[in-house]
Amino acid sequence: MKIKSVRTRVWNWTGPTVPPQGNFCTNASDALWMKGDAMSSFRFHQWLTCEVETEDGTVGIGNAALAPSVVKAAIDDWYAPLVIGEDPFDYAYIWEKMYRRSHAWGRKGIGMTAISAIDIAIWDLMGKLVGKPVFKLLGGRTKEKIPVYYSKLYAGSIESMQAEAEGAMKAGYKAFKSRFGFGPKDGMPGMRENLKRVEAVREVIGYDNDLMLECYMGWNLDYARRMLPKLEKYEPRWLEEPVIADDVAGYAELNGMNIVPISGGEHEFSVIGCAELINRKAVSVLQYDTNRVGGITAAQKINAIAEAAQIPVIPHAGQMHNYHLTMANTNCPISEYFPVFDVEVGNELFYYIFDGDPEAVDGFLQLDDDLPGLGITISDKHLKHFEITE
Ligand code: MG
Repeated sequence: MKIKSVRTRVWNWTGPTVPPQGNFCTNASDALWMKGDAMSSFRFHQWLTCEVETEDGTVGIGNAALAPSVVKAAIDDWYAPLVIGEDPFDYAYIWEKMYRRSHAWGRKGIGMTAISAIDIAIWDLMGKLVGKPVFKLLGGRTKEKIPVYYSKLYAGSIESMQAEAEGAMKAGYKAFKSRFGFGPKDGMPGMRENLKRVEAVREVIGYDNDLMLECYMGWNLDYARRMLPKLEKYEPRWLEEPVIADDVAGYAELNGMNIVPISGGEHEFSVIGCAELINRKAVSVLQYDTNRVGGITAAQKINAIAEAAQIPVIPHAGQMHNYHLTMANTNCPISEYFPVFDVEVGNELFYYIFDGDPEAVDGFLQLDDDLPGLGITISDKHLKHFEITE
């Protein structure tokens, strides 16, 4: 069975969005002086779908959320011709072919994101062709159900964050991730605002539940060094992406302080990129995103080396490609989960594009043993709110 076509579509959200607010979540652009709404550098309201079809009409669905229109061009012009005519079960060969034929420019960033989208589609396709869920192709169920952590709690007023945390507690979650709204440019007053919010969330969720803290690359090494001792007493499970993704030495230094476990990796690419984070002990928790790191083929290799180093892997974001890997790997203890919400940052968009992503119940989610492939379809429910570029 040969691959006959690769179809890409960019989904531009034109529907209602939650208005931006100040000090919502630090990000890498905070270091720059910017005119207007700095949050525009953080929000994204576009998504890419990538459908790989075999001669018999079976379609595998992959997707990517990084720079969708640029990734679309990379797939259409460069990668699709490398894949058409191949047998999807030669997935490791296809991966190497895409990787090596674009190595000069594609091994990180746009190229690797394009490879990821195609690879995920190929795994979905293989599952559909043999009638099995992807997690079974990866080795099968290692958990009765997947524990998830509630990932939202963007910085806002203390009252609103506490109310949100209370709601999430009532919904049965036992782990929560909140975002810092202040960074280096906000000085000592900002530090105090950050700490007040950590304390306020802890006040609601107590110390028997996990609290994760997210910087989204909006701090720098000096600021993070000063914050770690102040955060220690709140017992965070981890501090996420305190510095920009390229500062691997910074991650290694902070993680080596052994005050708060450091996590990261959602902006790292490929097996070798993640191996560096592991080998340098730069992270205590690795958080690659399957639709950036090189798809399921690369993710499964990374899982093996992370397991050997005893570094748990908790993939970035919800979404089926991450859930299937988590289900099939003992070393993936929990999943990130974005609660279903109005479109705000853009993370929520996959709920509007796809049908089939499981909703968390009492802090767990379940995958179906009988649904072939990843178990998602492209939805037509919200088409009126999308402008689609084909
Ligand atoms: Mg993150």
